Amino acid sequence: MSRTRVRDEDLFCARCRRPVRIGAAHWPEGYICASCRDHALETYGRCVGCGIDRLTPGIAPDGGQWCTNCAGGLGDFFCERCGREAARYQRGVCGNCVLAERLEDLLDDGTGRIRPELVPFYDEVRSVPRPKGMLTWVGKPHVQQILQALAQGQVPLSHDGLGTLSPWRSVAYVRDLLMH
Ligand SMILES: [Zn+2]
Ligand SMILES: [Zn+2]
Ligand SMILES: [Zn+2]
Repeated sequence: MSRTRVRDEDLFCARCRRPVRIGAAHWPEGYICASCRDHALETYGRCVGCGIDRLTPGIAPDGGQWCTNCAGGLGDFFCERCGREAARYQRGVCGNCVLAERLEDLLDDGTGRIRPELVPFYDEVRSVPRPKGMLTWVGKPHVQQILQALAQGQVPLSHDGLGTLSPWRSVAYVRDLLMH
């Protein structure tokens, strides 16, 4: 039996020390697990290196936040569509832009446009600061059914209309967002 020699640093996340999966991102400090990477790419603030307020996924030697320029080697995270600096969920496109695109499809009232009464809901949902959870949510088939039923006017946009949809937990969430 042969064993492949693997260095310790190849097996653990440089930040949280948990084991990383094959294909994990590699930053100058070492491999980064998916959850540390997600967290880093949702961290904004003033960079301790250059003083600019922007995405700060890097960690400076003193523990402060570093932007991609000061950290170096992390990659470029500007969205090609909206210009925002954020984690990207499609090639070159940030999560909020991907989310907007999905919602435009789901909330289409049949005329190629979002049902006008649902535009505030669309604006609220597509601009959440951390789109990852929302992307997972709109990817669920039962959520898509609820949104399409509302968009296409299969049920009225009222408490009674919503009451005819299921599952109730998702419907309640949609209702809370609609009431914003
Ligand atoms: Zn980690
Ligand atoms: Zn900087
Ligand atoms: Zn974008």
